[in-house]
Formats: sequence, C-alpha cells, structure tokens
Amino acid sequence: MKSILREQFGINAIKVERLSGLDNANYFVETQSEKYIFKTYPATRDTLSLVEAENNALLFLQNEGQRNIQTPIPSKNQSYTAIVTINGQEYICRMLSYLEGKFLVDVPHSKKLFQSFGKFLAQLDLKFQQFTDYRVAARKLKWDIQYLNLSKKYLDSIPDRKDRSVVHYYYQQYEENVVPWLHELRTSVIHNDANELNVLVAHEEVSGIIDFGDMSDTFLINELAIAITYACYDKENPLEWANILIESYHEILPLQEKELEVLYYLIAARLCISICNSACAREENHNNEYAFVSEKYAWQMLYRWLAINPIAAETSFRRAAGFPVKNPLPIEKLLEKRHEHLSSILSVSYDTPIHMKGAAFQYMYDAYGNSYLDAYNNIPHVGHSHPKVVEAGQRQMAKLNTNTRYLYDSLNEYAEKLLSKFPDSLNKVYFVNSGSAATDLALRMANIHSGNEKIMVMEHGYHGNTRAAIDVSYYKFNNPKGIGKKEHILVAPIPDTYRGKYTNDNGSAGKSYAEEAIKQIEDSKTPIGAFISEPIIGCGGQVPLAKGYLKQLYPAIRKQGGICIDDEVQTGFGRIGDHYWGYEAQEVVPDMVILGKPMANGHPMGALVCTSDIAASFEKGVEFFSSFGGNPVSCAIALSVLEIIEEENLQVNAKIVGEYYKSLLWGLQERYPCIGDVRGSGLYLGVEIVKDNSMEPDTGLAHHIKNELRNRYILISTDGPYDSVLKTKPPLCFSKEDAFKTVEQVDNILKTHYKIKKV
Ligand code: PMP
Repeated sequence: MKSILREQFGINAIKVERLSGLDNANYFVETQSEKYIFKTYPATRDTLSLVEAENNALLFLQNEGQRNIQTPIPSKNQSYTAIVTINGQEYICRMLSYLEGKFLVDVPHSKKLFQSFGKFLAQLDLKFQQFTDYRVAARKLKWDIQYLNLSKKYLDSIPDRKDRSVVHYYYQQYEENVVPWLHELRTSVIHNDANELNVLVAHEEVSGIIDFGDMSDTFLINELAIAITYACYDKENPLEWANILIESYHEILPLQEKELEVLYYLIAARLCISICNSACAREENHNNEYAFVSEKYAWQMLYRWLAINPIAAETSFRRAAGFPVKNPLPIEKLLEKRHEHLSSILSVSYDTPIHMKGAAFQYMYDAYGNSYLDAYNNIPHVGHSHPKVVEAGQRQMAKLNTNTRYLYDSLNEYAEKLLSKFPDSLNKVYFVNSGSAATDLALRMANIHSGNEKIMVMEHGYHGNTRAAIDVSYYKFNNPKGIGKKEHILVAPIPDTYRGKYTNDNGSAGKSYAEEAIKQIEDSKTPIGAFISEPIIGCGGQVPLAKGYLKQLYPAIRKQGGICIDDEVQTGFGRIGDHYWGYEAQEVVPDMVILGKPMANGHPMGALVCTSDIAASFEKGVEFFSSFGGNPVSCAIALSVLEIIEEENLQVNAKIVGEYYKSLLWGLQERYPCIGDVRGSGLYLGVEIVKDNSMEPDTGLAHHIKNELRNRYILISTDGPYDSVLKTKPPLCFSKEDAFKTVEQVDNILKTHYKIKKV
C-alpha cells in the first residue's frame, strides 16, 4: 500500500490504517507532516464516473468557499483518480485531505451542537443549489429517498411479520402522502448521507462532513430528513431534537410548507430504506458489521414515529420553522355541522368528542395531532390501516368488483379458507355486509328450517339493528326507550357468575342456568325455532357464559327442533386467545355462526356459516342475493385478514397479552375496592366498577375512568346493563407495553379518585 501511495501520489506514508466502510475500502494515511484519507473502489466504469463526479463536487464546493470538506489531492499525473492493481485486482483510488474532529456519534449531543449542524447543512445546500452534474442526476441510488421503491423488494427479508407490516405501512403512506406532491418539491444535488458517522464535531460545533459517495440529485428536503433520521433515532423525543435542526436550517435556507408537510413520511422512508437494506444484508450473511450499526435505532425510531403520528410531526415542524399552525375546525362547530344533517340518535363517544383524522395499528390520531392508544376498537382486528389489508382492497378495487352472480376466484378462495377454520359440520357460508344482516338472515333461515317462530334469546344480548335483530336483542328491546319484548321471544337469564343467581363457575352454575332456560323451553306451548347467543355477552358487560352452559342447553334446543345460533361478531377470529371462535370455550359446535365486525378489518362485511342441512332447507325457497355480499373486494380484504392473523400470530398474541393485561387488572382489583370483577378472555375483557366493596354498579365512576382515560389518550368504553363495565377489546396487535400503559393510567385515575374522596 505504501508503495502505491508513493508511486501514484508521491506520498511517503509512515502509517496506513484500514477504516471501516460499507461499500469500499478506506485507509487513514499519515506522513511526517500530513494526514490523508485514501479511498479505493473496485474498478467499474460507473464507479469511476461517480468518483469523478464526487471529486468534481468537492472542488466546486471549495471554490464556492465551503470549508470543512475534504480536498481531493491530485495524483502525480495531475488526475484526481488513479487506477491501481492490488493483489491482481484493479481498483480506482483517490486521495483526500483529512478533516480533524470527532464523529457526531461519539460526542454528547446538545442544542448548540444541533443548531450548528442545521446551519452547516443549510450552508452546504445553499452552495449545492448551484451545482449540477449529469452523472449524479442520472444515478438511481437505493439510499436516495425518491427511489424508496428500490428497497421494497427487501421487505420480505424482515423476519418478524409485525415489524414487516410497520415498514410496509410506511411504504404505503409514502405513496399516499408524498408521491402526489413530488412535483411541488424543490430538487437539488445534496450530500444525502449526513449521518452520525459522516458528520464531524469540534468544540460543540459541526466542524465538517465527509463521504459524498451517496450524493444525489433529489428533493432538497431529503437532506434534512436524513440528518434528522440519524441525529434523532436514539432520542426519546425525536421531535424536540428534529426541531432544533429544522429551525437552524430554516434560518439559513428557508424551507417551504410543502416540504414540512411531507417531512414526517420522508424520515420514515429513510428509516425503512435503512431497515430493508440491513435485513437484506443479514439474509445474505453479510459480515460487514457496518451494515447493522443503525438497525437497532432505526427500529426504535420507527416505532416511536408510529406513536407520534404525521399530524403531530407536521405541527411541530411548522412551529420550528415559524409557519402558522394549521387549526382544525373546533369540536363544537363540527358537532353543530353534524347535527345539521345527522340525527342525534347517533351517539358520540366521550364527554369531549374526538375529531379523528387517521389511525395506524393500535393508534388513532386526532386533528390536533394527539395519538390515542386504542384499547377499545375490535373492528380493526389486525390493526388500523394494516398495509396488507389496504393493499388487498386497493388492488382488487382497481381490477374487478362485481357480485356473486358471476364466477370469480376470490369468492371460492375466501369461502374455502374461512370454512377451514370451522369443524366439518359447518360447511356452507353466506356473505352479507354487516353483523345485523347476518343475524337477520340467520333468523330467517332458522325459521324456514325449523318451521317455528319462537326464539330464545340471551338476557342483555345484542345482535344488530334490523327489525328482526332488534327483536332478538334484549339490550335494545328491553331498554326503557325500547319496543319491549315481542311475544315470540323467550329470554334466557344471563349465566353470569359474578352478578347472577349462581356464582360457582366450576360447571355447576352453568348447569343451573341452563336448567332454568330448559324449563322455559319445556313450559313453552310451542317449540322454539332458534336460540341465539354470544359466547361472551358484550353489551351485557363482557360476561362470559358460565362454564358448561351451552353444553347443557344446546341439546335441549335441538331436541325440540331448534337451531343453535352462535354470534361471533365480537368474539371471533382469535380474539379470545385460547380459541379461534368463542363457542369452542363452551365445548360445543353450533348449527349457525354469525360473523361481522373484524371479518374485513372495518370493510363492511358479515357472514353466516351453517350446516348443509340448514342450507338445503333454505335452498328450497326464493333466490338469496346480496348486492354487495361476498364481492371480490370484500373477499380479497377478508382473505388478507385471515392471512395476517396467521402470519402475525395474532391469536397467540391475544392470549399472551390478554393474560398479562388481565393479571395487571387483577392487581388493581386487589388494591381498589371499586373493582368488583375482572373477566373475559384474550383481548376481550371487562372490568366491573362498583360502589366500594359492594356489588352495586358505579356507573358514574366507570364513566369518569373512561373519560379520564380519553383525556390521557387511551380509548376504552363502558357497557353492561348499568353501563358500569369498562370494556377493552383492542386491535390484536396490542402489546404488553400497551396493556401496561393502559392499566397504569387506570391506576393513576383511581389513585386521584381515592385521594379526592378522602379529603
Ligand atoms: N352481533 C353482535 C354481538 C354485535 O356486537 C353487533 C354490533 N355491535 C352486531 C351483531 C351487529 O353488527 P353490525 O353493527 O355490523 O350490524
């Protein structure tokens, strides 16, 4: 090496030391009086032209008065590059001056340092704005955010499926929120890699920047996006640190509003590029550790970014740059507008309603940029805006959407996959658009099959909003404002082992409750055509049916010709953790199952699954047709949901997180006399709030906890006959940390509640 340096550059090195690097070999060179960096690259025509362009840029910048960048040192024959042969291999090489300073990664970070960093970059970019180079412009570099898609093929190399989905989400968000605005973004040549290993620091100020190897002709704002990514990815509050960079950069090179609007997504995009490339390198068994240095922090920041949300980020960036903050319509105005056109019969959650703007996985965010941890909504079963669900819908919508009177693959494919989740006897499926429509159809079919009108329903049960569904929904018809119980309805007392007559949940309570229901059947003048119930009564306050209840009751229903209908609208698809379907916990197989809510993650879809005998009875009648039921888009989306549940192991997650969540809630129950009961299964739990050490429901306190949680950005609801049960049924991507956060806040609320009570 020393002889090459002497021959090519006339440099007499006393020390040559190899440095780490990702794509090329760099050496630290020292002579008696000077220090240099010697760089070698495998010789290809493309590399040569880019190395020349890099030298060209350095010389240009220097000419423009830019200090603190490396100076290219000419070779003996006055060229800034040379071709050398090392171990029989040709290399392009070049010599650069050495810059003093410590790397940004090795020094403590401070406001002063970040201010100087922002200014430094802006000054560099100001000079770069006058620079053009056709070789740089023609380059398609995977590290250039505008070519985000070049790294997308590595998505599948990310081993953890949930992690992969988060990265996929940001790819999609880039398409949605950046691509349409690309024409409005300023372009320029930029350094494009102001990471913590390329930025030098001396005396708490940025003293230089090295490695222009990723220089790109791209969106100007990418410079800042990349700097923020690496400077902030180990920070607990990345926005605070990002703002220092934005403010100081903006002082020198004013940013545009559109640039700040997309910045959140650009930062996420750079994190995704880094993550995808690390994943690919790992898969290729790359042993260049340099490829993984930033991986851990990239993940950390990506998950923090998810919790932060784009509105909060944009608001914060705008503030930093001194642009006025965008103000959403006040809540009162929105409510007023809503009531102009919509009836007040539609309720709004919480004392202070939330103006929702977006959602991702277990977060929802409002127009003010607040992120809410969603511990309540079970419809976005696999997570809000799950990219695979979105993609399934987008793709199919762009291809074909029609009805079941035509043949198409997705209908068969989905039906087969869905039915594979059921025992053999449940082998026919009808698709509709809601749980209510499924209930309605179920009641009609049960009536046709059994020939009997009478229906036994569950006390406090709810099955939908159609007329027939209301008839079987005690929760609605028995409400003080309800229509009352119709004559053809029998009500089975809720087999509740907390509040009910029998409390021993070892099977004996289940048996006793079932016997009471059976007595009603026996006493009925006419046989009953159907019995309908959920396995855990949601609107009843998350009350699981007492152990063994259905096992006793189902045979009695069937014995006199009735159909056993199981409503899995809330409990299905792995939510209860131990089982895929709620009825399995009761060790029975129903004759009909109603599906809805989570089935297509929020896309309106419902279904009825039944035995072939029941289907055969129905087939004797008029054609069944639902315009939208089972359309190709719905099937594609619903199929993606089934796949995600498997891929991301969400049933197991529901079990593990649910058990942990429940144990934390039990812990609270031990400390607070207002928690009467903690019940449910998996991520379908209820917490009964009572007057201290009694069984008297405390609706007021339950509402207080719900609203206080909302004020602390956690979504939960209340339900039950007295609306005194805290109801939690989050998306199945809910984590142990999320459960902890939720219970921690309930704890804080109760602590304050009891403190005030004492005073
Ligand atoms: N069954 C149950 C158990 C439900 O909770 C609901 C909705 N809350 C329905 C049926 C009706 O579903 P949808 O609102 O989709 O019509």
